Amino acid sequence: MKRKSYILVVAVVYILFGIYFYNNPIILKNSSLELEVNSKFDPYDNIQNIVFGTKKGVEIEGKVDPKKPGDYTITYVFKDKTRPMNIAVRDTQAPHLEVKDKKVDLQTEITPELFVKKVSDDSKYELSFEKEPDPDRVGEQKLKVVAEDAYGNSTKKEVVLNRMKDEKPPTFKKVKGIEVMQGSSDDVRSKIKVEDDLDPEPKVEVDTSSIDMYTPDTYTVTATATDRSGNSTDQSLEIEVVENPEYSEKVVYLTFDDGPSENTKEILDILKKHKIKATFFVTGYDDTHREYIKEAYDQGHTIGLHTYSHDYASVYSSTDAYFADLKAVSDMVEEITGEKSTIIRFPGGSSNSISANYSVGIMSKLVDMVTEKGYQYFDWNVSSGDAEGNNIPKEQIIEMSCTDELNHINLLFHDSSPKDTTVEALDSIIQFYKDHGYKFYPLTHDSYICHHGTTN
Ligand SMILES: [Zn+2]
Repeated sequence: MKRKSYILVVAVVYILFGIYFYNNPIILKNSSLELEVNSKFDPYDNIQNIVFGTKKGVEIEGKVDPKKPGDYTITYVFKDKTRPMNIAVRDTQAPHLEVKDKKVDLQTEITPELFVKKVSDDSKYELSFEKEPDPDRVGEQKLKVVAEDAYGNSTKKEVVLNRMKDEKPPTFKKVKGIEVMQGSSDDVRSKIKVEDDLDPEPKVEVDTSSIDMYTPDTYTVTATATDRSGNSTDQSLEIEVVENPEYSEKVVYLTFDDGPSENTKEILDILKKHKIKATFFVTGYDDTHREYIKEAYDQGHTIGLHTYSHDYASVYSSTDAYFADLKAVSDMVEEITGEKSTIIRFPGGSSNSISANYSVGIMSKLVDMVTEKGYQYFDWNVSSGDAEGNNIPKEQIIEMSCTDELNHINLLFHDSSPKDTTVEALDSIIQFYKDHGYKFYPLTHDSYICHHGTTN
């Protein structure tokens, strides 16, 4: 009798447990959790126990973004049973802020950023002063810089602001051996470095008219550096125009405009045979021969930019239109070669007058603008004459292309499909220049510059 009732009790307990576990197969450690922003969270870590199964069998619905403070709910699903869990992602940490004291001139705008060495937080933050600085006060004043994050946590640090009248003029960092390359269009002024105790960008004025950029020598000029408080110094500087090897040799720069085309391959083969390098001013309108741009680049030739469309009506309609088109061809070349080209040739050259049909005065604006943007543009001083038509007789192209009256020749050819006679003439032209002692170089930023001068 005793034994029977014992079995019964055990059976009932088993059944009750069975029912309980059947209804509660997932046991969670927590039903809600507060999580610091940017900390790690794996919902499976919150499972205490799974009855009749493993953690892998649990599905989780909903997502928590630990990078974004907010209230989240996820649901654990196992064998048709669900358990919700609430997660509150919170930013409770104040920003990390490191500051420094500051000595400034009376012109400096006083902002909290001025005093910050380092600042960081897991959320967005803003910098401010606890109390705005006194704008009229000269000398020292104490300020408090506050960094407050988007959730109201803030850090405050004290700094000393010293506003003083700037009475010291700027100084020159280097007075001797400032170098510019012979023939380079580099702005001499950009090579002169000055510093000032309180003005981060003092101005430099220098008269460079006594420097002959084409004759290597040491030139003495006087420069004036002025800070924004009006203190200035005069300094005599030695500028060295350094010899550019390309200038002491007889050089011919072979240039091919308008390609790539079905003739590019043959041009490359001729250049390869002669072991010489040239320059291709490429366009983008024919996309069937682009692989030759890569081939030319890999063989050491310069890839210059000639515009993408080569459509006068569009590229010369405005300076914006020109630069949009230049960007298109520049991006194309960079994508193909992995290198940005800064060498350009204007369609029709800088002296073209056809652009006046679309925008009066555009060329004189463009020549300055491209230089300001860091490009170097090249015209030519000898033309092969192959632009005058298709299939100009080979002998005529040779005749037009060959001269030994100039030491630096920028020779214009066209790389386009109908101009087969250009390719046929090329070998004899190269031979002529070899026989007359010329070197062949691809154009670089420092090469001999040939500019026509603008007419529009
Ligand atoms: Zn062209």
